Amino acid sequence: MKKLFILGLSLIWFTSSAQQKEVTITIDPVSENIYMLTGQGGNIGVFKNEKGLFIIDDQFARLSEKILTGLKTISDNPVTMVINTHYHGDHTGGNENMTKQGATIFAQKNVRSRMENAQKEKGSVNSNTLPVITFDEGLQLYFKDENVKAYHVHNAHTDGDALIYFANGNVLHMGDTFFNGRYPYVDLNSGGSIKGYIKASEKALLIANDDTKIIPGHGALASKKDLQGFLTMLKEVTANVQKEIDAGSSEDAVVKNKALTAKYDAKDFGSGFINPKRMRKTIYLSLTK
Ligand SMILES: [Zn+2]
Repeated sequence: MKKLFILGLSLIWFTSSAQQKEVTITIDPVSENIYMLTGQGGNIGVFKNEKGLFIIDDQFARLSEKILTGLKTISDNPVTMVINTHYHGDHTGGNENMTKQGATIFAQKNVRSRMENAQKEKGSVNSNTLPVITFDEGLQLYFKDENVKAYHVHNAHTDGDALIYFANGNVLHMGDTFFNGRYPYVDLNSGGSIKGYIKASEKALLIANDDTKIIPGHGALASKKDLQGFLTMLKEVTANVQKEIDAGSSEDAVVKNKALTAKYDAKDFGSGFINPKRMRKTIYLSLTK
């Protein structure tokens, strides 16, 4: 009994120390005025412009202070604009802090409605956390030396995804429509689908050229070639699962069938957030929905 109690205590201690684990903020230059910031959660894109800093996604609220301190190494100007690539908390958690220090938040309209609805269900809405300018299919933002385009892609990772392209810098931020070198998370409960996910990659490949630097939602900075490899993986694995569905295989059989993903499991695609089993299950569920 005493032993159990001690074990319980040490587990609690372990959990809280893991949550407080030091997160290191790293900022890497991507092009002349564009940077990629990594900490914990989705990769942040940073664009330094004549009006201040414009960032894409803002990770978690608890990291905002660290992120803002890190951004000071790029510019003394404040964050004036934020675009959320989608509504997940590891991309929008810092919204309130960014709003409070004067930023305007932009996102596809479904991002705002999903965040607002989730807060309504909990009892109250905090308007500081929400995007205040929303768009439907797309948006253009003009700066002195840069032209930024946001493209909404339908039902991919969620139902509110946007790809953000910096035309002069030739940098594309794909949010979670791209997990570089890993199986992606497709949020079927928030309007995501494997077919839409594949279309989002195809759309990104139309925007990108051989020199484009691609910031994925998760994983290392990528090239067009990396994205092509990712798309080939998605198409092959999806075709493998579709073949099984056409042959009458059950969900359970697909989930257990390692051969469907073996080629890419060997290339480490299953070593991230989504393991091979979960990838096969998600694709099965998406194709049979
Ligand atoms: Zn996400």
